[in-house]
Amino acid sequence: MSFNIEELARKNIRTLVPYESARRLGGNGNVWLNANEFPVSTPFYLSQQQMNRYPEFQPKLMVERYANYTNLNTNQILASRGADEAIELIMKTFCEPTKDMILFCPPTYGMYKVSAEIIGIKYHAIPTVGNWQLNLPVIAENLDNVKLIYICNPNNPTGNLFNVNDIYHLLEITAGKALLVVDEAYIEFCMESTLVKLLKDHMHLIILRTLSKAFALAGLRCGFVLANTQIIDLLMKVITPYPLSIPVSDIATQALSKKNIILMHNNVKKLNINRKWLIEQLNMCSCVEKVFSSESNYVLVRFKNSMKVFKRLWNQGIILRDQDKNIGLSQCLRISIGTRKECEHVITALKNLSLE
Ligand SMILES: *Cc1c(COP(=O)(O)O)cnc(C)c1O
Repeated sequence: MSFNIEELARKNIRTLVPYESARRLGGNGNVWLNANEFPVSTPFYLSQQQMNRYPEFQPKLMVERYANYTNLNTNQILASRGADEAIELIMKTFCEPTKDMILFCPPTYGMYKVSAEIIGIKYHAIPTVGNWQLNLPVIAENLDNVKLIYICNPNNPTGNLFNVNDIYHLLEITAGKALLVVDEAYIEFCMESTLVKLLKDHMHLIILRTLSKAFALAGLRCGFVLANTQIIDLLMKVITPYPLSIPVSDIATQALSKKNIILMHNNVKKLNINRKWLIEQLNMCSCVEKVFSSESNYVLVRFKNSMKVFKRLWNQGIILRDQDKNIGLSQCLRISIGTRKECEHVITALKNLSLE
């Protein structure tokens, strides 16, 4: 007897368009500038060799070090399998499927929408306005049934920060009704803009962090939720029993040593200098229409013919991220900041293309 397995899947999974991660999109080459990864790797060793026992639920030393790094108490921190797990975990904890809603402001990180669709949570997508800023009046009109608002700061893929006053306003209008989740995946590239200091006075603020970007550990899969203890305790009821494997916490603990945090800050400084150089050079390329300012480790660029640029560079092994289908981003590509050499490859390729 034959039957269709697909019909057994939940309806929203059958219609789901999965997140198109850079790894799934593929490509061939040696200049990878499509996933906002850090361009150089820091060496680590495995200090724990025994794997027959389950890991600690929340590895103590690692959490202590992250608390130290963020000036928070350990009970304000939850470690997760990357920020991506945290994005979904918060929805599972706070949203009643089919009833509660989340709200986000495109163009932004794609996983807020995909996670909501997987769990079966409805959403409001309220596009940003002007220079990618929040449309506060429309957000305020659409807060009925909204439990969670996801803001990515600095925003991926646009690279900008949101006005601090707008974030304060958002905290005011959501107090007692919804939680504000601020995704700070890229905050190390503009550290002075972190909202961690607001946690003290805003019970309904959640901040997401990751070791995948500035800490150069995308392959490790380690992220953190920063929030008040009540929120952390609720999330702990829902998270999987052993979210981090022993090798993950082993390496994360090393990455969070005083010495390695200084190293990370130095790497960030160098990368920010490369970003400045790349933006200056891009502005001199005739195929470029507009370079958007960036506080992060990537830059959004509008080209005269983005498809041609994307394909031409792809064929030369320079892999960028196409944003053309994203709302408001026609003719745009996102370029992760690589090493100076990688940035030079991009510029050389663009200059050759401009000559045609
Ligand atoms: C990369 C990224 C993440 C995912 O972080 P992981 O810790 O690697 O899961 C989350 N949010 C934003 C905005 C990102 O760009």
